[in-house]
Amino acid sequence: MRVLVVGGAGYIGSHMVKMLLAAEHEVITLDNLSSGHRDAVLGGVFVEGDLADSDCLNDVFKQYKPEAVMHFASFIQVGESVRKPDIYYRNNVTNTLNLLDAMRQFEVNKFIFSSTAAVFGEPDYVPIDEEHPNRPLNPYGRSKLMIEQVLADYDKAFGLRSVCLRYFNAAGADPDGQLGERHEPETHLIPLILQAASGRRENIQVFGRDYDTPDGTCVRDYIHIVDLCSAHLAALEYLNNGGASDRFNLGNGEGFSVQEVITAVQKISGKAIDVINGSRREGDPARLVADSTRARSTLMWQPKFTDLEAIVAHAWHWELKQLS
Ligand code: UDP
Repeated sequence: MRVLVVGGAGYIGSHMVKMLLAAEHEVITLDNLSSGHRDAVLGGVFVEGDLADSDCLNDVFKQYKPEAVMHFASFIQVGESVRKPDIYYRNNVTNTLNLLDAMRQFEVNKFIFSSTAAVFGEPDYVPIDEEHPNRPLNPYGRSKLMIEQVLADYDKAFGLRSVCLRYFNAAGADPDGQLGERHEPETHLIPLILQAASGRRENIQVFGRDYDTPDGTCVRDYIHIVDLCSAHLAALEYLNNGGASDRFNLGNGEGFSVQEVITAVQKISGKAIDVINGSRREGDPARLVADSTRARSTLMWQPKFTDLEAIVAHAWHWELKQLS
């Protein structure tokens, strides 16, 4: 298929472009390079452009005639979204509406949307399935939930079918070592610990050791980037085979604590890590773990790298490349 990947120069998008090309799809990447990297797009067509620019969008659809769209371009920092809700709603909501309008205009009706576990807020129970109530705690989570709701309405009104994939904690790197995480600033746990191990950062701060979890630190569901991307590939096939609009929670189904991640990085890297005990970060639930049964049964999705040490090993390999 011809697939338009919006945000294909970013962390998840760049791994997706690589996987789509390996599966012999044609790929058009659209990215404004606000946080992505041109050299992370390993093939296909690259267009530097912004979703706020409707002329650019029209040109892309007219020229390349995509048959499906994957949308990875959004702002992702929870804390920043609280301070600057305007830019989150403009980028994550308004710009996505521009993209959907272009799809309607050019009669493209298959859409795969990067959503998030943040649409749930503080969980009533874990593992979290798709029936869990949606009570996002911040503008980031709300911006994603709004688009999920828009998509349900667009399906009813315009026949635009979509799959919303709620990522839990995306982690790891390309096993071939060509791609990895390069956020600026970095706020995610695993790359921060790796930077503390490699010497690019002095220490890692643990945000709270007094949670109601076995070791007192927060438990999260880390999902390997390759498994995340293979779920998109499965979703593309699902939509192409006439599958109905749906939403899926994507995680390993197994939680690891912040302390367990630190221990895994110490083991894989063989480095001592300076760990500082900090206070809780606002809005962090004690445990977030996905129930991905629906993705496994409906999309026939089968994650490969469910072991934390494999996730950390691939990310460590990438971190070492950043030093050279
Ligand atoms: N965390 C931490 N120190 C850091 C960054 C994150 O202790 O410097 C914790 C955070 O409180 C959470 C987990 O690590 O429990 C994962 O955080 P991250 O920001 O990577 O992802 P999130 O779960 O917020 O999507």
